Amino acid sequence: AYLIESGVIQIVTTAGGAPRELGRLGAGDLLGEMAVIDAAPRTATALALTECVLLPVARDQLHERIDSADPVVRALLRAQLARYRSALNTLQGNRRMAPTVAADAAAASLGDAGAIDKIRLESQLREALEQRVLQVRYQPIHDLRNQRIAGYEALIRWDHPQRGPVSPAEFIRLAEETSLIVPVGRYVFEEVFAVLARLQRHGVDPLPFVAVNVSSRQLAEEDVVGAVQSIAAAAGVPVAALKIEITESLTLDIDGVSELIARAHACGVRVALDDFGTGFSNLGHLHKLAFDTVKLDQGFVRQMLQSPRCHAIVQAIVAMIAALDADMVAEGVETAEQLAALREMGCRYAQGWLIGRPQTADDMLAAIDAAQ
Ligand code: C2E
Ligand code: MG
Ligand code: MG
Repeated sequence: AYLIESGVIQIVTTAGGAPRELGRLGAGDLLGEMAVIDAAPRTATALALTECVLLPVARDQLHERIDSADPVVRALLRAQLARYRSALNTLQGNRRMAPTVAADAAAASLGDAGAIDKIRLESQLREALEQRVLQVRYQPIHDLRNQRIAGYEALIRWDHPQRGPVSPAEFIRLAEETSLIVPVGRYVFEEVFAVLARLQRHGVDPLPFVAVNVSSRQLAEEDVVGAVQSIAAAAGVPVAALKIEITESLTLDIDGVSELIARAHACGVRVALDDFGTGFSNLGHLHKLAFDTVKLDQGFVRQMLQSPRCHAIVQAIVAMIAALDADMVAEGVETAEQLAALREMGCRYAQGWLIGRPQTADDMLAAIDAAQ
């Protein structure tokens, strides 16, 4: 392919024996890119109408990018290209060729099975959201100081009609690829405040906090604190019962999160940094952002008792978080030994299967009743 730096190029084809102009290309346009994408033979002629300067574009330059593109975008590109070629063939009176090319178009779009699955799953997720069949489960968070449940983390669940339970790790990532994450997030906030209103009507006092996971894409797309304030007001629940968990991603926007924290603090909402210690969660975030809570990734708790090095790291993290005047929640606590070790180290909160699995709102209410 070529990038046109300057000049004008006419693209011509022959339709029924007569030449026909398909278009004119100028500076900044690409030429010959279709053949690079689908490796099909050239179907049109390029004529320089003026003196031209062209920059060659290597096959690999385009291929690597197309291969690393979102599979949905890739499938759309291939399907469109195949359809365009088929239309071009018909135009050229090449009827005999048209059906095969049309068949290629179908193959191109279905060939990327991952992409089709993704489109299907996303449409079904939209539907599940509209029908309000997504569910929210509540996992208790234990306060090691007073041996009580301090709050809960809201975790979304999708029981797919054909596939069974789909992990939020899978469908949240899918929702984050588009702005679909915004209505999904709103749905969770609405469910959470409806449940808090139920607890309030039930006379639960003080209300436990409920921590809701918010991804950075949500922060970029909408005013989360504003949305939460209106949902809380409509439910008649103090917004301060909410805690926001920032789940890490490749592009944690420091300024955006910093503004979120300031706005959240102004209305009494606390903010936690999720999955600390792995992936993209780093010390830079901790020193620049005034998190109230840091959640230690479950990988540390899992290895802490087998690995003295890991134990030493957890101990140091506990001290560091205390020095920052923040709370620490250890995630993934599954055994009494892990809990005892965390208590000894001075960790404030624990969450995990030992304390309790994510449970329905009804079960949470029953457990709160039993404890009162
Ligand atoms: P997370 O926020 O770090 O949530 C903790 C995950 O660890 C949950 O997985 C929970 O069920 C699991 N877990 C809790 N205790 C234990 C334990 O003792 N052992 C083990 N092995 N696992 C434990 P889950 O529910 O599958 O959620 C996965 C991730 O999906 C969450 O990680 C969070 O990042 C995301 N997510 C869940 N709900 C939402 C949501 O409503 N919005 C957004 N944006 N993300 C969500
Ligand atoms: Mg979380
Ligand atoms: Mg986590």
